[in-house]
Amino acid sequence: MSEMPLIDPFARAISYLRVSVTDRCDFRCAYCMTEHMTFLPKAELLTLEELDRLCSNFIALGVEKLRITGGEPLVRKGIMTFFDAMSRHLASGALRELTLTTNGSQLRKYAADLAACGVKRINVSLDTLDEKKFAEITRWGRLAQVLDGIEAAKAAGLAVKINAVALKGFNEDELFRLTDWCAAENHDLTFIEVMPMGDMGEAQRIDQYWPLRDLRDRLATRYTLQDLPDRTGGPARYVRLAESGQRIGFITPLTHNFCESCNRVRLTCTGELYMCLGQEDMADLRAPLRASPGDTALRQAIRNAIAHKPKGHDFDYTRQVVKGQMTRHMSHTGG
Ligand code: SAM
Repeated sequence: MSEMPLIDPFARAISYLRVSVTDRCDFRCAYCMTEHMTFLPKAELLTLEELDRLCSNFIALGVEKLRITGGEPLVRKGIMTFFDAMSRHLASGALRELTLTTNGSQLRKYAADLAACGVKRINVSLDTLDEKKFAEITRWGRLAQVLDGIEAAKAAGLAVKINAVALKGFNEDELFRLTDWCAAENHDLTFIEVMPMGDMGEAQRIDQYWPLRDLRDRLATRYTLQDLPDRTGGPARYVRLAESGQRIGFITPLTHNFCESCNRVRLTCTGELYMCLGQEDMADLRAPLRASPGDTALRQAIRNAIAHKPKGHDFDYTRQVVKGQMTRHMSHTGG
């Protein structure tokens, strides 16, 4: 890296970029999307070449970890070309980790290719091990296909972490089943507190809010929880279960107890850069990207954006205004 790294006004180095490569998805998870989504016109999306250029500039400015997300990243046409292109930054040592968050539906097709591109660990979103409930919550998904994808990922040598959204009255009764399955399969497991987005009536939404504090207390009735000091710069906290040695994560995006160590920014598939999970402030990078084939203006735009990264965010789950903001923001940034 020859340039000054990206440091925000609060002395946090920006080393983690989360990139949404598409707004499309082959599932319609009820807490995430409406069933009949209108997706962005293709011209709005960054091309794979543009995504490469943007990511490569971030890497040149000190980003060491790239997480690819969506929509569903593996439904983007030609996406392996992009992973393959990013692997050159792993080979050069500039990038330390290339990873993705996926619903798992396409892993049978792509797991080996991902491993060949240098991907070592992936996150797979899976909220239930019950076939009927899986079909209900994802609307269009099939559990068997995802489990088969996870098998393929393991066979390709990828470490799999399961992300499960905690939904009251939906997967509460599967807490131990999910935990034990992950232990048996050797997957780390992270629970995510549900955020106010997606297509649900407000009454149902409040009904589905299952605070992770409660989930954690229930885990403690069966296992011995040992707090881990692990910090990722993001909204996750970890414990180890003494009985199985398993690492369990808790992501509470609506709290702001992680802002002081925040090392990340998120890029949408249209080139908008969001500096904070909880704030609407964003910078358009597509205009400078398309304005010139040279990278000077683009890098300046990135630096200007980072100079506006806020100190932190402060959610109130019940505040109507935040709900509206989250809906718009998250549907483009990939959760
Ligand atoms: N399609 C990929 C997947 O399924 O992982 C990547 C995108 S998805 C939006 C990323 C993560 O956000 C998934 O784990 C999903 O469960 C989570 N997510 C979506 N809507 C959420 C919500 N309202 N609250 C909490 N997590 C949510």
